[in-house]
Amino acid sequence: MTEIIFNEDTKRFRDSILKIGGAERLMLCYQCGTCTNDCPVAKRIEEFRPRNIARLAMFGQKQQLFSSDLLWLCAGCYTCYEHCPQKVHVSEIISALRRLAFIEGKIHPTIKSLLTALSRYGYIMEIGEFENELREEENLPPAPEPAINEISTIMEKTGTLKKVGGN
Ligand code: SF4
Ligand code: SF4
Repeated sequence: MTEIIFNEDTKRFRDSILKIGGAERLMLCYQCGTCTNDCPVAKRIEEFRPRNIARLAMFGQKQQLFSSDLLWLCAGCYTCYEHCPQKVHVSEIISALRRLAFIEGKIHPTIKSLLTALSRYGYIMEIGEFENELREEENLPPAPEPAINEISTIMEKTGTLKKVGGN
């Protein structure tokens, strides 16, 4: 297990997590491990341990939390949210950490490319003739015209476009 150093900086980072809506109950985690035991991602990826993420967050270990891809592996299924005996809501802690990482421009390349596509096509992928033919086979109408201008404007005004390097 990596060494934990707790000082004014890490405390400040921990406090910034606690201020984000949904993450307020972080300090109630008593490390029972239920979240890890029941998490579908943890069952497949040994390194992904929601309990450890909660522990690192409690000690404000920004460096460890932001230096790997682990935060971005959460599937947002909310199993941990439902099962935690302390209602800590690890899913929300992870969302809060992702938000803080995003603010610092530490964005996973996959998320970056999805956001770039979103700004370009209004969807996370280009929807063309082929995709619409597939929809037709399922008796679905063509994909609605995306509101590309509105999406780009929102992404520009929120600074998202600049962070992901979109156009
Ligand atoms: S977040 Fe909840 S389920 Fe996970 S270790 Fe902490 S108390 Fe247990
Ligand atoms: S929300 Fe994320 S951390 Fe929680 S159980 Fe689902 S995949 Fe695991």
